[in-house]
Amino acid sequence: MSNADQDSWSRVKERLRADVGDDVYSSWFARMDLEAFEDKTVRLSVPTRFLKNWIQSHYAERVLACWQAHDSNVARIELIVRSAVLRQAVPVKPRETAAPVAGHAEAGRMNGHARPVFAADAAGHEALGGSPLDPRLTFDTFVVGRSNTLAHAAAKQVAIARRTDPVMFNPLYIHAGVGLGKTHLLQAITWAGNAAGERKVLYLTAEKFMYGFVSAIRTQTALAFKEALRGIGVLVIDDLQFLQGKSTQAEFCHTLNALIDAGRQVVIASDRPPSDLESLDDRVRSRLAGGLVVEMGGLGEELRFEILKTRVTAARAHHPTFDVPQPVLSYIAKTVTHNGRDLEGALNRLLAHSKLTGHAVTLEMAEREVRDLVRPQEPKRVKIEDIQRIVARQYNVSRSDLLSSRRTANVVRPRQVAMYLAKTLTLRSLPEIGRRFGGRDHTTVLHAVRKIEGLVGNDVSLAEEIEGLKRQLQE
Ligand code: ADP
Ligand code: MG
Repeated sequence: MSNADQDSWSRVKERLRADVGDDVYSSWFARMDLEAFEDKTVRLSVPTRFLKNWIQSHYAERVLACWQAHDSNVARIELIVRSAVLRQAVPVKPRETAAPVAGHAEAGRMNGHARPVFAADAAGHEALGGSPLDPRLTFDTFVVGRSNTLAHAAAKQVAIARRTDPVMFNPLYIHAGVGLGKTHLLQAITWAGNAAGERKVLYLTAEKFMYGFVSAIRTQTALAFKEALRGIGVLVIDDLQFLQGKSTQAEFCHTLNALIDAGRQVVIASDRPPSDLESLDDRVRSRLAGGLVVEMGGLGEELRFEILKTRVTAARAHHPTFDVPQPVLSYIAKTVTHNGRDLEGALNRLLAHSKLTGHAVTLEMAEREVRDLVRPQEPKRVKIEDIQRIVARQYNVSRSDLLSSRRTANVVRPRQVAMYLAKTLTLRSLPEIGRRFGGRDHTTVLHAVRKIEGLVGNDVSLAEEIEGLKRQLQE
C-alpha cells in the first residue's frame, strides 16, 4: 500500500470524526485500519467481529460516503476482522487465599438472599468489599429496547468473556440520565460474571472507591489495596461522576491504567460522556474515551410497557393475587414518563393499595395512585453534536467548517449561532463548549453568545431562524 493511500486514509478518518463526533468516533473507528485499496475497493480491518458487525450495520454508508467525498473512484468498502494482531489479554491468576465474603445487604433493598459478592484477600477486603448488589438486577430482568440494545450487547459480552479471551473494548463506558438502567446493567454484569466464575468481578460505586481508598491510606494498607486489585478480573465502577478530589482521581487514573494495561476489563457508568467529566484531567478523560463509549437513551413507551410487565410478573411470585390489567399497564407506560424508578414506584403503589384494601387494580385507582408521578414531557436532552449538525444543515455549511478556524462570514455567523444554542439549550460550561467547537477559548464562546443575544433583539428574521432551530432540536 502506498503512502498516498495511508494519507488518504488519514484524511478520511478526520472527515469521519468530524461527521460522527468524537465519542462515536473513538468508540467505533479508532481501531480501524486500512488494509488495501485496489479495484475501487477499500479494505478496512477492525479487531473484532462485534465491531465489524456493528459498523457494517450502522455506519457502512457513512464510511463509504466519507471515502467518496475524498476520492470519487471508491465504489465499495470491505470490512474484515484482522486476526493475528490482537493484543492478547494477560490471564488473571486466581488468588488461592480468597474466601467468599457475603456483600453487606442493604436493608430494605434486598428482599432475596444475597449471593457472595466478591471475596478480596483478607487484608484487602476491608478496603475493597464490593458495594451491595440487588439480586433483582440481573440480565433476566433487564428489558432490551431500541435505546439500550448496544449497551446491553456490550455488557453481555463482558459478562460472558473468558479469562483468556482478548479484551474487546476497554473500558466499557456506559452513560445515561438518571433511572435509565445503568446500575441495573452493571449489577447484571457482576452477577453473571461471578456466576460464570471465570473472572472475579468487583462492583464498586465511585463513593465506595473513594471511601475504600481513603481509608486504606489511613490505615497504611494502600499496598494491600493494590495487591487486592490485582486479583480482580473485571472492575465495575458505578456513578463515576461522583468521583471527587485530586488524590482520589490520581489513584483512579493509576488503577485504571494498571488494570487496562494488564488486560483486565474495566466497566464504568456515569450520567455523562467522558468528554463532559469536567473535573477529571485530560489524560483520564481520553483513556476513558478510548474504549467503547455507549449512551443509553430514554426509555420509550414500548420499553416502559415491557419493563412494567416484567415487574408485575416478578411481583406475582410473591403476591400471586396481584394482577394489573393491560389497560392499566398501558396507561402507566404512557403517562409515567420519567424513568425506571418512577415506573417501579408506580407499581409499588398499586401493589400496596391492592394488598391493603383487597381491591382489584383498576384504571381509576391507578389514575388516582400515580397522579403525582405523571409529569409533563421532560425536555429533551439536547446534544452539542446535534446542534452542530442541525445548524450546519440550516446554513449549508459542513460540521467541520463549524469546528474549523475559518473566519469567513458564511461560517462565522452559523458558528456563533451554534455556540449560542449550545449555551442556552445545554448545561455545558463555556470552556466545555469551546472545547467542543474545535478547541476554542471560553472567551470566544462568550463573545458569540453575547453577539447573538444582541442581534436577536433587533433582527426579527434571525430571531425566527433561531426559534426554528430550537424547535427542531427539541422535537
Ligand atoms: P440508573 O442507575 O441509570 O439511574 P437504575 O439501573 O437504577 O438506573 O434503574 C432504575 C430502575 O429502572 C431500576 O428499578 C431498574 O431495574 C429499572 N430499569 C431501568 N431500565 C431497565 C430495563 N431496560 N429493564 C428493566 N428494568 C429497567
Ligand atoms: Mg445508578
